[in-house]
Amino acid sequence: MEYFGCMGKLLWVDLSQTEKEKQFTEQTIPADVYKEYLTGYGLGAKVLFDNEVYKADPLGPDNVIGFMSGLLTNTGAFFSGRFEVIGKSPLTGGWGDANCGGYFAPAIKKTGYDGILFKNISAKPVYLLIEDGNMELRDAADLWKKKDTAQTQDILQKRHGANYQVACIGEGAENLCRFGAIITDKGRAAARSGLGAIMGSKKLKALCLGANQATHIHDVVTMSTLTGNFMNQMCAASGGWIDDLVSWFGYTPLFSGVVRFLQKHNWLNAVEPNNLDFYGMKRWGTCGTTALSANIGDSPIKNWKGVGYIDFPAKKAIKISNNSVTDHETGKYGCHHCPLRCGGKMNYPKSIHDYPLPKDDDDIQQVHKIEYETSCGFGGLIQCDNLAAIVELNEMCNKASIDTISCSVVVAWAIEAFENKKITPDQTDNIVLEWGNIDSVKILVEKIIKGEGIGKILKEGVKIAAEHFNATQYAMHAGGQELPMHDPRQIGGIGLGIQYEVEPTPGRHTSTCNGCGLPAPETDSSNKKAKSIHRLKGQFMQHVAKTQHNVKNDPVPSQDELLLTSCSADIVNGLGLCLDAFGLIPVEPPLVEWINGATGWNFPPSEFVTIGKRIKTVRHCFNLMCNITLRDTRLPDRARGYREVKGKKEAVLKKGPNAYRMPPIDEGNQAYYEAMGFDLQTGVPSDEVLTDLGLDYVKKALESRPTSDRCRK
Ligand code: SF4
Repeated sequence: MEYFGCMGKLLWVDLSQTEKEKQFTEQTIPADVYKEYLTGYGLGAKVLFDNEVYKADPLGPDNVIGFMSGLLTNTGAFFSGRFEVIGKSPLTGGWGDANCGGYFAPAIKKTGYDGILFKNISAKPVYLLIEDGNMELRDAADLWKKKDTAQTQDILQKRHGANYQVACIGEGAENLCRFGAIITDKGRAAARSGLGAIMGSKKLKALCLGANQATHIHDVVTMSTLTGNFMNQMCAASGGWIDDLVSWFGYTPLFSGVVRFLQKHNWLNAVEPNNLDFYGMKRWGTCGTTALSANIGDSPIKNWKGVGYIDFPAKKAIKISNNSVTDHETGKYGCHHCPLRCGGKMNYPKSIHDYPLPKDDDDIQQVHKIEYETSCGFGGLIQCDNLAAIVELNEMCNKASIDTISCSVVVAWAIEAFENKKITPDQTDNIVLEWGNIDSVKILVEKIIKGEGIGKILKEGVKIAAEHFNATQYAMHAGGQELPMHDPRQIGGIGLGIQYEVEPTPGRHTSTCNGCGLPAPETDSSNKKAKSIHRLKGQFMQHVAKTQHNVKNDPVPSQDELLLTSCSADIVNGLGLCLDAFGLIPVEPPLVEWINGATGWNFPPSEFVTIGKRIKTVRHCFNLMCNITLRDTRLPDRARGYREVKGKKEAVLKKGPNAYRMPPIDEGNQAYYEAMGFDLQTGVPSDEVLTDLGLDYVKKALESRPTSDRCRK
């Protein structure tokens, strides 16, 4: 049978086997399964559920780690260079996935498989090598705990070929840090859910892929015509003079104040230039919004208890944002087949005390430009405005393969716990933890990477560390996953709060397409709006798009909006697309046409809503099988905007754009659960939903749980 868009099979690697014939097994995937689950984490969710991976100890032999490419990867569609890593999360104990760009996604598909999955544990460190006509597990003794991720990539590419793509782990994940990441291209990270620790537990150092199998496309002419036309439209839509002006003005401390003023008076929508986000992303990448976000209530400050314009004012924040970063850019970087190219390579000094840059070229290294999340986490969250320090911390995390978001949240928690004497100097080897004290932060991060001293506890993640030190009130996480750098207390932020709690990977800012809209299931397919999936409004400047409700608390979004924004993320990730790119491009991409052109399916847009809902429901039920419900993913009171004082709710923030704001997240959760057909108390989908989505196998598994688990609320 000929497959279009996909490869028709998965590769399983059993790390416990020593004989080559037993190490590798192919799993053929029936064509209809792709129509129901796409690829990426959609297909991954079905396969992990089928294999009862929910029963596994996340760091034990029964857990599986999979590297899944997307359905549109290698088909010619733009923005299709993202892959998904999947497994049971060591951080949350439930469903885990992490998304990553670079050039590894096409390399997976060129092996001839839609995904590569590993089970069991190797007796010794190994790496997987796949090239045309050869696949083998190779000894990694010379790399394990000896080489960081950049060195590992250099060695493997020198050994096997410069065009081989490498995904690997470093010391942090090898030491089973629960927020371990997986790194490709020396700085692109599949960072969330702690999946790097699974590689560490399996003694799997790296994947090195150098095969060249083609992906069959159903209608090559249509695909190339669509893509060519789309590129022309994108070029024509680039940068009007208002965008240019505002984007340049954006690099001034005054800008944040003006935006705050407009926001306060409900005037912001009136001045929003159409393509500002697109222009800003092309010019600066995600770090183009760091200063603004810090000052208008989007990014959390001082472990979520600070106010941007007071504790991290624009004159400080701009030092780690926009031109302050791109002034050191030596070239643009884009993932596979992405014309937006939001990434960059930049110079940075070897010593954090050498900023601004030293004149001697020998003291300068070239690294990936910092992203928004990292610059906020090691910036406003811990009160650091030293760009070189943040770049260095980013490099430390990338080389050791740990998640910068989780790491910075753990550091911020530790500083506050130290401030409140919950952690004492004898527990930190006499390091004094203070806001903005980069020397002590650097030592702390080193300890986390090595799992030494207090780092032995901190590497378990903020939830476990906070419980250990009896300081849970400062621990900013949802279900064990450290919160990202977008604040649900901001105006229009309720959707963030809901997704942080209801999504299968809690505490993630990319699990829902904020502000985007797929066509509603009941929409007439002849309606023009329903003919293509609405472009997905992304994270960048999301506050700008959503400031029409300048009231103390946001209204709860409609059920349709919640369902569509949530399920569209599952489609994007099943297709291997970039969520950010789809939120930013000024012209509507021919998404449905791309899918149909690549596969020959001819599905109407509404079918993709069903697919997204199916994928979401399987991931959600994976968590139910792990005994995880809404009760376990509740945000800390601080992130919901209040603290309990003598049995009463008192606002955490009494100044700034988020003052007195307490988004009604519980009501939002209820609306979301109703939209998805999940029982609010137990989380279990209705029989009708499971039957409609063809998920009888999931229903059977849910019914097989002990009664006590089934009734858990
Ligand atoms: S927009 Fe940026 S992150 Fe997304 S695919 Fe393009 S280069 Fe990669």
